[in-house]
Amino acid sequence: VADGGNKKTSRVRVAVRLRPYMSKQDDKHEGPCVRGLDSQNLEIVNWRNATETVKYHFDVFHGEDTTQEEVFLSSVKSILPNILKGQNASVFAYGPTGAGKTHTMLGSPEQPGVIPLAVEEVFNLVRATDQDEGWDYSVGMSYLEIYNEKVLDLLSQNSQDLPIREDKDKNILIPGLTHTVISSSCDFDKYFVPATLKRTTASTKLNQRSSRSHAILLIKVVRTQRPLPHRQQTGKLYLVDLAGSEDNRRTGNQGIRLKESGAINLSLFTLSKVVDALNSASGRVPYRDSKLTRLLQDSLGGSAHSVMITNIAPEYKYYFDTFSALNFAAKSKLI
Ligand code: ADP
Ligand code: MG
Repeated sequence: VADGGNKKTSRVRVAVRLRPYMSKQDDKHEGPCVRGLDSQNLEIVNWRNATETVKYHFDVFHGEDTTQEEVFLSSVKSILPNILKGQNASVFAYGPTGAGKTHTMLGSPEQPGVIPLAVEEVFNLVRATDQDEGWDYSVGMSYLEIYNEKVLDLLSQNSQDLPIREDKDKNILIPGLTHTVISSSCDFDKYFVPATLKRTTASTKLNQRSSRSHAILLIKVVRTQRPLPHRQQTGKLYLVDLAGSEDNRRTGNQGIRLKESGAINLSLFTLSKVVDALNSASGRVPYRDSKLTRLLQDSLGGSAHSVMITNIAPEYKYYFDTFSALNFAAKSKLI
């Protein structure tokens, strides 16, 4: 299947990952408030009102014992060959701060996450391509952040808000964004690691800015056919560590206003509407309502392959944020 054109829009796959319970003195007596039932179903229990149990069904449920490798294999690996064929894809980590988004996307040197595993796999796939098919491959990366609806280049010292444009073939472009050609995973680390360190160090000073911004890594694979006229195809893979989905406006014991919980963050709210519109195949997809969705327009829906990994935490203090994240994800799953 070729890219572009007016084909059927693909749905966004929705996975949920529950991180392990990190017992602390003050919440130990309560135990986890989320329970996995099987590989697709889970339930959330309100300990303060035990009759309130809600069950959810998703494409995939990853329980607390799930390894990084398992998440990668089940949700990401199979979409990567498409990138080499000129198709687009996006993988998001969604959920409240502290629920495991960065662990899932980035991980640690001992437990590498989706990003390092995907980059390695892209290079494996490029090396394994059949020379007889006559294509040359080039891999490049860009790395950016959306903060307060500003698009900021993380591979540049320049901190100006970059514009988002669309070309005549409906490809989304960001003029001025650094694009760096990379030749291996090592090469990738050379650019990615310092930029990530810089982002997270700066964020402690700026009052947890990193949990209020979206970190967006773009891996771009361009293939060029050797015979004239050197036909070219570009595939884009977006790997996104989203801003925390918690409602920062929640006060005291007033409880959450679910209806409004998405609206604190225009991008997340719009993302939910976009995913909703794509998965229910209903009406206009409001890509243009936020920078995040505008940027991802050519890689979310259409012929693109998309996965949303909703990260949740089991502790009771996350109850309302978890409930709200699960409702977001469940809504996203409706067909
Ligand atoms: P977020 O990015 O959503 O704010 P983090 O990824 O920083 O959350 O996770 C919060 C804490 O929980 C970190 O210390 C992280 O290492 C740990 N953690 C998250 N997910 C897991 C997991 N699946 N297994 C073990 N530790 C995890
Ligand atoms: Mg994080």
